[in-house]
Amino acid sequence: MYGEQTHAEDSSEDLSLDVSMLSLDPPSDKKDQSFVPLSFTSTSTPTSEEDEENGKYKERKWMVNESRLMELFSRCNHCGVSVIETKKTTCSSLIRVNWQCSNGHQGKWNSCDEIRGMPVINLLAAACTLFTGATYIDIDDWAALLNLQIPKKTSFYAIQSSYLIPVVEIVYKEKQEQMLEGLWMQNILQKGVHLSGDGRSDRYV
Ligand SMILES: [Zn+2]
Repeated sequence: MYGEQTHAEDSSEDLSLDVSMLSLDPPSDKKDQSFVPLSFTSTSTPTSEEDEENGKYKERKWMVNESRLMELFSRCNHCGVSVIETKKTTCSSLIRVNWQCSNGHQGKWNSCDEIRGMPVINLLAAACTLFTGATYIDIDDWAALLNLQIPKKTSFYAIQSSYLIPVVEIVYKEKQEQMLEGLWMQNILQKGVHLSGDGRSDRYV
């Protein structure tokens, strides 16, 4: 049954990873109406679009062996016959599966959502690396030992410079302005300001 399938894989990190997030065409497989999960236990009911986005960011994620994942595509979820062709496409941490059964039914499945053409998990993987304070090398070494698929070095730094650093700068300036406003208020209320130094007693000659 499974051995009769035709398998193909397109793993193209550099070709398919779009860090521009400017894709005008909505992802064709953003809503895969043909895929019906075997079980659906979530009872969450997002009250707004924002809640839904936050939920996706926070929702639990799992490490899955590829062989176990592909077992889900052994039979057609329309008619139940064997799937005769599967094609895997990967883009960093995203895996996309296209399948077709012997009765001509087709389907596409993505392991995560996309935002303007970028797989969300790639953005999150890069962000979580930076925000933990770890170096990319540390995370990459850990992932390599597991054979866990994360963005390659070039992609990571492209995402970092295009999106993460600008966001950090915005938040830093917002927090700095809040602190300065607090200090101005203290001055107005004549509460004074306490200054402290790092105590290194640096000397400049
Ligand atoms: Zn079918």
